[in-house]
Amino acid sequence: MNAQRPPRVGILGAGQLALMLAEAAPAVGADILCAGQPGDCAEQVAPVLPVDLGNPHEVAEFARHVDLLTVESENIDAHVLHGLPLYPNARAIGTAQDRLLEKHFFLDCGLEVAPFAPVNDLISLHSALREIGLPAILKTRRLGYDGKGQFRLTHADQAAEAWEQLNAPCILEGMVQFDTEVSLIAARNRSGQLAFYPLTENVHREGILRVSRAASHPELQALAEYHLTHLLERLDYIGVLAVEFFVVGSHLLANEMAPRVHNSGHWTIEGSETSQFENHLRAILGLPLGSTKSRPSVMFNCIGSMPPPEVTAAFPSVARHDYGKEPRPGRKVGHLTVPASDTAAIAALVSFFQASGK
Ligand code: AMP
Repeated sequence: MNAQRPPRVGILGAGQLALMLAEAAPAVGADILCAGQPGDCAEQVAPVLPVDLGNPHEVAEFARHVDLLTVESENIDAHVLHGLPLYPNARAIGTAQDRLLEKHFFLDCGLEVAPFAPVNDLISLHSALREIGLPAILKTRRLGYDGKGQFRLTHADQAAEAWEQLNAPCILEGMVQFDTEVSLIAARNRSGQLAFYPLTENVHREGILRVSRAASHPELQALAEYHLTHLLERLDYIGVLAVEFFVVGSHLLANEMAPRVHNSGHWTIEGSETSQFENHLRAILGLPLGSTKSRPSVMFNCIGSMPPPEVTAAFPSVARHDYGKEPRPGRKVGHLTVPASDTAAIAALVSFFQASGK
């Protein structure tokens, strides 16, 4: 790295995760350059170069402008990523972008997962249904997010419709009767230093994260940290990693991992001494990790549109993050973070989101 100027971090992607990474960059003295498309929301805070993230030549050309690279999405083809100064590494991203590889990796690391079987056509879907039973979820191995690329089956006679809709390599997963869903966000830096945030309890609707609460679960926290330590070391991982789990009694079943900063960690901007965004940059730049000491917090995702300003302005403790995106049904356009102690604000926001159906 050139000692005369700040390190320059390239982000593959220019959406809200890149935007919040760029907002954290001054705290660590880094410059940010994003690879995306004109109009992407990170443009509000960092330069965005037009780059086709599916084109290895364009990505390699972008890499020449920066000292190191990171991603805001796992859905960049692994062949585009090889040979780049990339944190986390291409193997970690490649594992996380394929649900079948990810499941086998979890099993290899000794984690429990939902029952699953690979599906490549309608015939293998029928045999997977016999093996796994109903209800079950058919999920595309790649490119699924926010409930997209999924079909829930309650009867075997839905098989043809499910396959027609997804029509790509899939896994069939048994439905887990979970008590709650949680995620653990961890950071590992270039010297192997680890940091963990408090477990976050997550509520999804229609496959989209709605609410995250950073809660205190000492026993599950210790178990989740034990698992993530193993995953991070096995992957030789550098950066922030999030793993989502189903909680069943005292068991944690790994659902999926995200090799990047994660929606369930947005509350750390106000709720932790060091946010997940700053710690990701610290980890990849080879800096010591910051303290993850946190206060209990609640985060509400704003889906489709932001709440009118008067809904949040009445509560000074509410931190409003508007990503500056065009409102559109089902789109994440912002989030709100509230300290868990402000029960009046939380009750008002819960009623608002319930009434608006978002
Ligand atoms: P995913 O994209 O795999 O994270 O799925 C989105 C959401 O769908 C999860 O957060 C769960 O709420 C639900 N879901 C996914 N897989 C299962 C499963 N095997 N059993 C029960 N719920 C599931």
